[in-house]
Amino acid sequence: MFIDIAKIKIVSGKGGDGKVGFHREKYVASGGPDGGDGGRGGSVIFQVDDNLSTLLDFRYKKKYVAAAGENGGSKRCKGKDGADLVIRVPRGTIIRDQKTGQVIRDLSDDEPFVAAKGGNGGWGNTHFATPTRQAPRFAKPGQPGVERDIILELKLLADVGLVGFPNVGKSTLLSMVSAARPKIANYHFTTLVPNLGVVSVGEEQSFVMADIPGIIEGASEGAGLGHDFLRHIDRCRLLLHLVDAAGSEGRDPLEDIEKINAELAGYSEFLAARPQIIVANKVDLLGEDRAPVEALKAYADEHGFQFAELSAATNQGVAELMRMTWNALQELPPVFIYEPEFVESAEDTDGTRDWTVEKVEDYYVVSGAWVDKIMGSVNVDDYESRQYMDRMLKSAGVYEKLEEMGVQEGDFVVIGDLEFEYVY
Ligand code: GDP
Ligand code: MG
Repeated sequence: MFIDIAKIKIVSGKGGDGKVGFHREKYVASGGPDGGDGGRGGSVIFQVDDNLSTLLDFRYKKKYVAAAGENGGSKRCKGKDGADLVIRVPRGTIIRDQKTGQVIRDLSDDEPFVAAKGGNGGWGNTHFATPTRQAPRFAKPGQPGVERDIILELKLLADVGLVGFPNVGKSTLLSMVSAARPKIANYHFTTLVPNLGVVSVGEEQSFVMADIPGIIEGASEGAGLGHDFLRHIDRCRLLLHLVDAAGSEGRDPLEDIEKINAELAGYSEFLAARPQIIVANKVDLLGEDRAPVEALKAYADEHGFQFAELSAATNQGVAELMRMTWNALQELPPVFIYEPEFVESAEDTDGTRDWTVEKVEDYYVVSGAWVDKIMGSVNVDDYESRQYMDRMLKSAGVYEKLEEMGVQEGDFVVIGDLEFEYVY
């Protein structure tokens, strides 16, 4: 089965908690703090794998969770980091945010993409020792993992897309010019999965061509097969629009062209504007009657399309068409790659700012997912960045709360990974 869209949930690992521990040894009255840090949680990472061609695996498994980091141990022992979870997907898979539909990442290159970062491990109590506070009974919990609901959508990466009604010879053409072996048969909808083939026209001159299932009328409104597959020619640079010039099924090739182009336009105006070569196929069946070919050529000229005639079955015109296709590609922009649109905001989409203040011994500890997000984006060595943090904390009411709880000048406040003395 060919699956090209899937909804899944990914969850990165929680960071391990820091440990509150004290050095203990026989005959040593009281040792210093020795609680280790928690390990980092595993991240969820996407990686393109060219051995994959569908999103089938994601149909059965919906939740992907990376391992948590281990908690810190005694004797300053750092907890083990959680293992990353690497999810392999076919090239051309687009990750979208489920709620907004916005593009998070187009996985078209080989760069691994961290889609959910593992939580940092919490600091053990060794970090909180100061000259005046030699036995801190406080350690930080690990940061929680990140949970994301995403959509995976496969949009094949091909330079050239074959379009046309069923049975016009698209699969035959692809099989003649590449090593791809699509099913070919004299009935409709034989191609149930898109096929990709590499076409070589000369040394270091090659392009990728996609054969997608026949587009049928009404496909762009979701009627039947075809609509789902339009997304696979969505980023093709050039379309080869095949028709049965001989009208061997009793259809009018000119009408067919207009129907298919109306379907493309119904799907997206960008797709409708894509350059096309009109290909009159099955000319071997025409015999002496050249009129249908002339009519198609005139139509192509009139509408600004290039034109070629072909007999995919007998190989007549195949090499010429591939050369023409290569030449046309030289003038066209590269395959479209989607830019990320989704920006994760510090505030959750529902506007909640989740934070709490606790008093632990003589520390005031400000924590919560929102605080982690803010602190994760703050560079404390940078004045502007500190100002930003200050504004955010103030507007969320954090300082007000601290004062309500009786914070005094010089008291220690812990926010995220930062520890500082409170000043009014
Ligand atoms: P698709 O549905 O567009 O992929 O069409 P296919 O490639 O499966 O071809 C449909 C039928 O048309 C098959 O029986 C092919 O053998 C036949 N066919 C394809 N190209 C030609 C051609 O140039 N001449 C003739 N006579 N038959 C062809
Ligand atoms: Mg086919």
